[in-house]
Amino acid sequence: MNITVIGTGYVGLVTGACFAEMGSNVTCVDVDAAKIEGLKQGILPIYEPGLEPIVVNNYKEGRLRFTTSLPEAMADSNLYFIAVGTPPGEDGSADLQYVLAVAREIGQHLKAYSIIVDKSTVPVGTAEKVQAAIQRELDARGVHIPFDVVSNPEFLKEGAAVEDFMRPDRIIVGAEAERAREVMRNLYAPFNRNRERTLFMGVREAEMTKYAANAMLATKISFMNEIANLCDLMGVDVESVREGIGSDARIGYSFIYPGCGYGGSCFPKDVKALIRTAAEHGFDTQVLNAVEARNNQQKTVLFDKITRHFGADLSGLHFGVWGLAFKPGTDDMREASSVVLLEALIAAGATVKAYDPVAREAARATLPADWFASGRLVLTEHQYDALKDVDAMVLVTEWKPFRHPDFEAMKRLMKQPVIFDGRNQYDPKQLQALGFRYAGIGRGEHQ
Ligand code: NAD
Repeated sequence: MNITVIGTGYVGLVTGACFAEMGSNVTCVDVDAAKIEGLKQGILPIYEPGLEPIVVNNYKEGRLRFTTSLPEAMADSNLYFIAVGTPPGEDGSADLQYVLAVAREIGQHLKAYSIIVDKSTVPVGTAEKVQAAIQRELDARGVHIPFDVVSNPEFLKEGAAVEDFMRPDRIIVGAEAERAREVMRNLYAPFNRNRERTLFMGVREAEMTKYAANAMLATKISFMNEIANLCDLMGVDVESVREGIGSDARIGYSFIYPGCGYGGSCFPKDVKALIRTAAEHGFDTQVLNAVEARNNQQKTVLFDKITRHFGADLSGLHFGVWGLAFKPGTDDMREASSVVLLEALIAAGATVKAYDPVAREAARATLPADWFASGRLVLTEHQYDALKDVDAMVLVTEWKPFRHPDFEAMKRLMKQPVIFDGRNQYDPKQLQALGFRYAGIGRGEHQ
């Protein structure tokens, strides 16, 4: 199969590389010339475990190509995946300008029957807009070329994207035309070898499934954070409660970890977009409004604990932050809880030394330059360097090397033995026995 993937970010690059790995010929297209040039030299624009060898090998084998020119990629392809960004617009709705720009360009160059697949996360009704945008271009050209638009939302998790794409829980395909379903069935056959994972449904149902899945996961997190905040006030350790409820098969253990809020490029924007879509239909999403509000507040919980301990004025105090990425396994800092914490610490007069195993470059590119220039924020090369002479350590992202650190060494390095654990990685009793002042999320410390 000759596939074109448009948008070479987390989703597009993983999609293109994994299809190539399964033997298809794939051309990845992006408007970012630096990204495409880097990829041709084996330099990946993102960090994703296991992705680099797949990209490099398939490029060498000639199954994976990179270009900035969509018309060039369209010369010998009839299957197009749109995987460009759908960031939140000003009103919170998904901004479809990139998706529709690609649709128009496809319409301008389409030559023969093709299938256009929406891989980006897009609101219900977008496939119809893509269909109309392409059709308008064909009409303007005065040509009649049949095509189908399919919805195939992506469920990969950053940090485990290759694994998720290769062994998905399910593949959702929303397609109205049987000829399109047949092509999609064939395309995904290598991913369905040990069991059938593809669920066929209507296009609008597929579009809604993606939002409902992310909204459900965000709901689980916000629910647990609410319980954790209550536990703090009542002298209850939420970690026992988590295990207690997770053991119920109807609830399960996944996605009920209390923490300092969810971030990333998906949950915050997708919850917002679903709330917005509902509003357009005159519907008030009471549960989702609360999920979003709880999460926004949860991102300030660590700072609240810090000021409860040190007072509101943090001038002259130094903090060591472990973890900047929105979650372990990725360099993605979009909507990361770390950013909210850094903003608050710096505004309160503190200085920060931060360490992240892979997000240093992303941090330098996205955080305000004056934080670095003024010395308010220093990024360290090693995890323990971030703790030298600090008044407290704050754990924000639970990277594996942070899970079982050398507490004795930490105590020697730090000016004050104080730990704020935003992901409940440590045992409060063990740390208290070692002489640390410890605060986690919902460990019952405010009674
Ligand atoms: P991204 O920002 O990493 O990548 C998007 C890419 O599209 C960029 O490289 C950009 O330069 C390129 N682009 C923009 N306009 C273009 C155009 N006209 N032609 C060619 N390329 C163009 O985004 P992402 O994280 O990969 O997300 C893409 C979509 O997938 C979004 O809708 C997102 O919600 C969805 N999604 C993301 C994830 C995730 O974990 N990141 C998971 C599932 C779904």
